Amino acid sequence: STLGDGEDSSRIRVAVRCRPLFATEKNSDVVDICRILDEHLVILLDPGAASNDYLRQEKSKEKRFAFDQAFDAQTDSQRVFEATAQPLIGSVLQGFNCSVFAYGSTGAGKTFTMIGTDTEPGIMSRTVDGIFQHAASDGSLSVTCCFVEVYNEVLRDLGSRDGREGMLDLREDPVTGPSLTGVTEIQAKSVEQVMELLQEGNKRRTTEPTAMNVTSSRSHAVFQVRLERRDPRSEGVMIGKLSMIDLAGSERASQTNNSGLRFLEGANINRSLLALGNCINALASGSSFVPFRDSKLTRLLKDSLGGSCRTVMIANISPNHLSYEDTLNTLKYANRAKNI
Ligand code: ADP
Ligand code: MG
Repeated sequence: STLGDGEDSSRIRVAVRCRPLFATEKNSDVVDICRILDEHLVILLDPGAASNDYLRQEKSKEKRFAFDQAFDAQTDSQRVFEATAQPLIGSVLQGFNCSVFAYGSTGAGKTFTMIGTDTEPGIMSRTVDGIFQHAASDGSLSVTCCFVEVYNEVLRDLGSRDGREGMLDLREDPVTGPSLTGVTEIQAKSVEQVMELLQEGNKRRTTEPTAMNVTSSRSHAVFQVRLERRDPRSEGVMIGKLSMIDLAGSERASQTNNSGLRFLEGANINRSLLALGNCINALASGSSFVPFRDSKLTRLLKDSLGGSCRTVMIANISPNHLSYEDTLNTLKYANRAKNI
């Protein structure tokens, strides 16, 4: 099965993807403590397994979580795409708004999953490729993309070439929804063009050295694709929007062992992630109040979450036993996002 297919009416689907151990991890004392069964079950072993003393491992300390989809380290990005974002394309073409999130701590594989590399493109460009396959046979379809980041609760344009400070204003129209004044929009004609926007934009993302990780990404990167189709008979316009988000690292601010500015940033990241979690929980449990206003990220995505929108959350985890706490926190966050 794939996320979001068939008769299943649930609007929020949750997937987990475990990255492989790096060569450097394999060459050290790092132990892989993550097991994936049947593309559904994630088993996190007791980090005591790192001792390699199997008699000391307590089976009771093992944690088990079931998800709509669970991908092991051998699963390639094509498979992840087919099971998560691809089933949303049809909905967007019909005029629904959809969103795909990559959640997880720094180094767990969010950017690899969403943006990827030249040889292993991620979900963002594969999705645009899928849309273009429809566009080729539909001359009335236009594809417009923008790429922005939320950093410290401020919106910045990642698509502007001239390097100026691309601060953006978020306007909220009760009818047309949130919009970004002055954002760089590209009328996409090819996947290569989109890949360039993503790779160049990703380099412009705000990354700062922290005590924990030199390239800890503290910004949320939001890639939005708007599809417009003109109906030649009715003269009507159908608009569907797909938002794909490479979230900031979910490691807790307290773990970065910083003070001052970094601590403020950490607090803001938590604010957006917390707000997103609260919104998704409210939606998953059918609550009538969804706290979109609590952060910039949730205000921006207000028309892409809930209602008739379909959402996929991909929680990225590392199998490294040293990342046990972060991995467990990620699995708990993802578990809370599941439909109740
Ligand atoms: P994050 O964005 O969550 O901080 P990255 O996506 O940058 O993490 O991943 C960290 C490193 O691991 C990168 O070098 C990336 O290429 C590699 N990586 C992540 N996931 C995978 C995967 N599924 N297969 C192979 N390499 C991966
Ligand atoms: Mg990243």
